[in-house]
Amino acid sequence: MDGTEEEGYAAFLAERREEILQRIAEAAARAGRDPAEVSLLAVSKTVGVPQVDLAWRAGYRAFGENRPQELVRKLKGIAAYPEMAGARFDMIGHLQTNKVREVVGNVALVHSVSSTHLAEAISKRGVSHGVTSDVLLEVNVSGEESKSGFSPDEARTALEGILALPAMCVRGLMTMAPAHDTDAARRAFSGLRDLRDELAERGGLEFPILSCGMSDDFPIAVEEGSTIVRLGRTVFDPSYVLG
Ligand SMILES: *Cc1c(COP(=O)(O)O)cnc(C)c1O
Repeated sequence: MDGTEEEGYAAFLAERREEILQRIAEAAARAGRDPAEVSLLAVSKTVGVPQVDLAWRAGYRAFGENRPQELVRKLKGIAAYPEMAGARFDMIGHLQTNKVREVVGNVALVHSVSSTHLAEAISKRGVSHGVTSDVLLEVNVSGEESKSGFSPDEARTALEGILALPAMCVRGLMTMAPAHDTDAARRAFSGLRDLRDELAERGGLEFPILSCGMSDDFPIAVEEGSTIVRLGRTVFDPSYVLG
């Protein structure tokens, strides 16, 4: 980016952020929720470190990456920007057990714990490195074959064992909704909330975080109780039309 391009992109980021916050506020109002309950995670997987820096300057404070290697690359890159020392990074994508070392201790929250095996690997790494990981269980609420995560029944069965792991704190649930089908998306989000309520009541625990909602469906997710929306294209792509 040269200077003029950078200015134009910075202006886009700031303007789009205001529009997104407005959409979140409107959706929260429709549902009688406080918009302050909803936080915005800027999914930076498709952009470089300079764009992340501009997003930081536009007001974003939390970023999401879906690949461990790219996460590490971003963390190294932003070290050159002292003002971003407090930037938060979350892991949102599918994680293989042999990659947990790149993630544990490097992120504020792992959204994508999709199996007991993975939970055990994260805990084991945490024990050996003195790190307790905040995590979400990824649940495939819609039941689409292509999606990873626990089925709701598997989550019910696996929860107790995962809660017993020493270096892990389960803070809530995450899901990905079916694309291009707003009714199915709404069912996935409300199903996630219902499952959270059920698991929390059964365990006498609180699972305050519901990570759901992406560029195409975040207002619906906010209406259905989302507390973290994960937005990529609508934050970073000037050609994305915010509906
Ligand atoms: C890429 C990605 C997002 C953001 O998707 P957009 O449609 O670009 O907003 C959210 N969650 C996960 C897990 C992703 O991989």
